[in-house]
Formats: sequence, C-alpha cells, structure tokens
Amino acid sequence: MANPISKYLHALQHLFFPHYCAGCGADFISTSEFLCSKCNHQLPYTRFMELEQNPVQKIFTGRIQIESAGALCYFTKSGLLQHILVQLKYRNNKNAGYFLGRLLGHALKQSERYQSVDLIIPMPLHPKKEFQRGYNQASVIGEGIRSVWNKPMVCDAVVRLVYTRSQTRETRSSRWENMEGVFRVTLPKLLLNKHILLIDDVVTTGASLEACGDAILEIPGTRLSIATVAYTI
Ligand SMILES: [Zn+2]
Repeated sequence: MANPISKYLHALQHLFFPHYCAGCGADFISTSEFLCSKCNHQLPYTRFMELEQNPVQKIFTGRIQIESAGALCYFTKSGLLQHILVQLKYRNNKNAGYFLGRLLGHALKQSERYQSVDLIIPMPLHPKKEFQRGYNQASVIGEGIRSVWNKPMVCDAVVRLVYTRSQTRETRSSRWENMEGVFRVTLPKLLLNKHILLIDDVVTTGASLEACGDAILEIPGTRLSIATVAYTI
C-alpha cells in the first residue's frame, strides 16, 4: 500500500495540476505521461521498423534509392492515432508530437536498420504554413525522437519553396507532378557524406518524402532513410 503522506501529496498535486489521458480522458496523477497504459496498448503498431521488406519500404522501391523506410503505426480514420495527430496539427498541442516522437525514437533506437543514421531532418513545411501553425509538426516529432535517441537534428538544411494546398482530393499521378522543384537544400555542406533520416508525421503516397529525398540525394555522398509515425493504408 502506498505511503499515506505521498498518496495525499499526489492527490494535492492533481488538484492543482489536473492531468488527463489524451486518449480516453482518464485521470492521471503522473504529469509526465500522455496516454494511460490502456490507451498506449491500443495504438496500432506496425512493427515495420524491424522489417526490411515492409509496405512503406515498398512505396519507395524503384522510385528513389532508400536505405531503410518504415512507419511506427497504422493510420486508421477515427482511431486513437488520428485523434493524437489532429491534436498535434490542428489543436496546437506540441505534447502530442513529443509523445509520438518518443515512441518513434524508441523504435528507431531498437532497430538495427537505422543505426548508421548520422543526421535527422524533419520534413520541411512551407514558411507560410509553419507560421500559420506556429511550428513544424515534424520538427516537434524530431525533438521527441532526440529525447530518447542520441542523434543530431537539423531543421533548416532543406526548405520547401512551394506552398501547396491540401492535396487529399488529388490523384497519385497529379500529386507527383506537383512536386517538381518543391524542395531545395540550403546547407549542403552539413549533409555531405551523411546518412540522413528524413522524418514526417504520415506517409500516404510518399510523393512529398520522395521529392524532398531527391533534393537531399543530390548532395554528394548522402544516403537516405525515412521514418514516419503513421502509415495510411
Ligand atoms: Zn486512456
């Protein structure tokens, strides 16, 4: 049984700093957690990070030279993960991104496929979009990754030059055509001869990641890997 004094102090802390599970709303005492253990176990993990042949790797095969690609979870509409990603992208909740980043970071750290990574680069947003949101969600995820996996991250080595509106209604081929010249490496010396890990929140067709990866691979000696939090089936 817990010490009655510490139990009392925890209850007092909760009274002044209420904290709830971002999934089900259950009361929390610990302010360091984001989800309760029940919700944590409900996340639809893919195990792709450990597998050389996985559906995310297949997206890029034959399109771009990739060392390793993978996603942490399946993205399902109205699922818990979608709820957390909405929090990150549209509700100004950076903690959602740190949380997802930590989960992805643990998976990367444990996977043999990603050990030779030298540098993490978050998928750049167009400056206008980043200004509107207040932050780049991929950079927030990157901070979460770095808190558990000791790799450097650079956020301003690649820029997005073209502002594109939501592309959800476009077909795969038109998405691809829209990506020409969208990204540019601004700090090529930083990338020289490095194994770069490009990270993002979700991979769907992979068109943006591929276009950004193409720009990175133009720098001599670079190798490219990709990791995202979610994979849309
Ligand atoms: Zn919960």
